[in-house]
Amino acid sequence: MPELPEVEHVVRALSPLVTGRRIIAAELNLKRIAPGISRPAFNRQLQNALITGVGRRGKYILFQLESGHILTTHLRMTGKFVSLTTDESLPPYAHVIFYLDDDRRLVFCDMRQFGRMQLFKDPLRPPKELQTLAPEPLSNDFTEEYFLDTLSRSRRPLKHLLLDQTRVLGLGNIYAVEALFLAGISPMKAANTLSKPRARKLYKAIRDVLQEAIDAGSTLRIDLADGNASYLETPERFWRVYEREGEPCVKCGKRIRRVVQGGRSTYFCPGCQR
Ligand SMILES: [Zn+2]
Repeated sequence: MPELPEVEHVVRALSPLVTGRRIIAAELNLKRIAPGISRPAFNRQLQNALITGVGRRGKYILFQLESGHILTTHLRMTGKFVSLTTDESLPPYAHVIFYLDDDRRLVFCDMRQFGRMQLFKDPLRPPKELQTLAPEPLSNDFTEEYFLDTLSRSRRPLKHLLLDQTRVLGLGNIYAVEALFLAGISPMKAANTLSKPRARKLYKAIRDVLQEAIDAGSTLRIDLADGNASYLETPERFWRVYEREGEPCVKCGKRIRRVVQGGRSTYFCPGCQR
């Protein structure tokens, strides 16, 4: 599943391809991708829409339209966009097709069909899923004060709190365990028992791991012209603790441990993380 840094790169790849393009026709071929709207209404409302920009809120990709409407896309597990010329054949699982005014087609493919699109009309009243998201982690809205306050209000284990996108945005399983390792903090520790200096360390670690991933991501191969490519097939990255159970810690040499928290694997170093 692409995490926030990967989605950021999809947005950066999409932006020059679709900004300023008009959708000549839209074709929703699989109803469940856009559950809130009928297929004819989806196609009608996007026909002739001018795309004025592409942005992101959390892991939602936002296509801004001249009409003021916004089309959101969540890739979930296997969703991806592909950009095709007129004579290229459709890749497998092509569920939504946008015919653009430069003779290209922007195609949304999704093998597992969990990806979702939603069209909303009033940018000031976005869907609830967007409204409840915590501040963007790399923006000025995500302040140290906000983070410390959020921790002080929760008795949940830190790992759980960090994965809750309505409290702290942008950390999936990988980046949550990496940030906790960088800060030297146990994933099992209750959020409101963390001292302020350590909370500040964690705040910095969160921003560092995300920024590091976005910077490293510039080498990701998100090839929108390749229908067979997958966003999941990213080059091997080196993780400090993630999926390194039993291997020596890069800092102290103790063996990395794995526990299951809330149904998901947590990796940590028993020597460095308290
Ligand atoms: Zn260690």
